[in-house]
Amino acid sequence: MKNITVLGVTGSIGMQTVDVVKNHSDRFKIKAMSAGFNIAKVEEILEMIDVEYICVVNKEDATYLQKKYPHKYIYHGTEGLIKIATLSEVDIVLNAIVGFAGLLPTIEAIKAKKDIALANKETLVVAGHIITKLVKENNVKLLPVDSEHSAIFQSLNGENRKQIKKIILTASGGSFRDKSCEELVGVSVQEALNHPNWSMGAKITIDSATLFNKGLEVIEAKWLFDVSYDQIEVLIHPESIIHSMVEFVDTSVIGQLGNPDMRLPIQYALTYPERDVLAGGASLDLAKIAALTFKKPDFKRFRALALAYQAGREGGSKPCVLNGANEQANELFRNGKIEFLQIEELVEKALSCHQTIKEPTLQQLIEVDAWARDFVLKEIGEDGCKH
Ligand code: NAD
Ligand code: MG
Repeated sequence: MKNITVLGVTGSIGMQTVDVVKNHSDRFKIKAMSAGFNIAKVEEILEMIDVEYICVVNKEDATYLQKKYPHKYIYHGTEGLIKIATLSEVDIVLNAIVGFAGLLPTIEAIKAKKDIALANKETLVVAGHIITKLVKENNVKLLPVDSEHSAIFQSLNGENRKQIKKIILTASGGSFRDKSCEELVGVSVQEALNHPNWSMGAKITIDSATLFNKGLEVIEAKWLFDVSYDQIEVLIHPESIIHSMVEFVDTSVIGQLGNPDMRLPIQYALTYPERDVLAGGASLDLAKIAALTFKKPDFKRFRALALAYQAGREGGSKPCVLNGANEQANELFRNGKIEFLQIEELVEKALSCHQTIKEPTLQQLIEVDAWARDFVLKEIGEDGCKH
């Protein structure tokens, strides 16, 4: 029996993890889980499965839950997150928190020698140098949940990583794939949230539309597979069937295919190195799909992608600025405060105003993240003063 802590259980990845675990209750148990503010969802989950340790963001919510569930251990805040990410009974921590907030519990879980199933890509984007070092020192597994990275991970099974020529990250292109720059002026939040292939949380769906998601994934791939940025190529593949590929030195290309269903990479991270039946999973019907298409991304049109490569290559604290500014701008767009195209403009401006710190410590990253968010807010006058 594998005991799991699921961080961000009420979200899109979190709920699909609950589904996977429910379908394999003979091999997995969710020992602990964390949620943000959706307490009704926590109660809903507790009706389906028994979870002993629970962490929420607010103290008031924790007090409410403790009254309702006197026999459970209820925590709150960052301390609570760390507590449930480091429990001695837990074998693996699946981190499905969205954003920078996922960083600290990942670090503490690794230090407590837990294997990590990582959906929270922001963790690797901002602190890849810290995470990869800790993973080595503590001899734990860092298993990707992101579908592209799971595909690459699967394509590398039994291979010599030194023989990788390049990684080909596929991208659906998001909701605005076929729109020109001019057509993007004035697009609505609702349109941006209408992803053609995947149903995901709001932040990542907007990131898919800007292609910041793919940019973050380029940086994530660099750290997960220890390749250079020149070895990572992005390919637009609207059907989202080939989840990513690896080309080896002999020009052989190995990829992983499947219907777009996040439960598969979630489950693979939990069963690795084994596989198991995917409950309700339909076989891929290539004859029905008939054609798979590919296109090189236009870096002028998808400015976010160019910015991510640039920040990744400069390294140090730059990816943290990219991430923090994007998280803030993404939220402002979702709240109707800025235009869609302002997201990349604001991130670009934040990057150009930041003096790179070469090997940032965790404390410095926390400060840089706060600076980037603040920079964006000041740029649009949200804090009342113009930058
Ligand atoms: P979501 O918004 O649906 O869920 C996020 C979860 O994190 C929720 O449980 C929320 O309560 C919790 N949370 C948010 N802010 C928090 C905070 N400050 N402190 C503690 N908890 C907090 O997001 P999602 O779509 O499930 O994505 C989660 C992560 O997985 C993201 O990093 C995303 O990039 C990655 N990911 C998602 C998908 C997908 O299909 N949804 C695919 C690949 C990668
Ligand atoms: Mg992905």
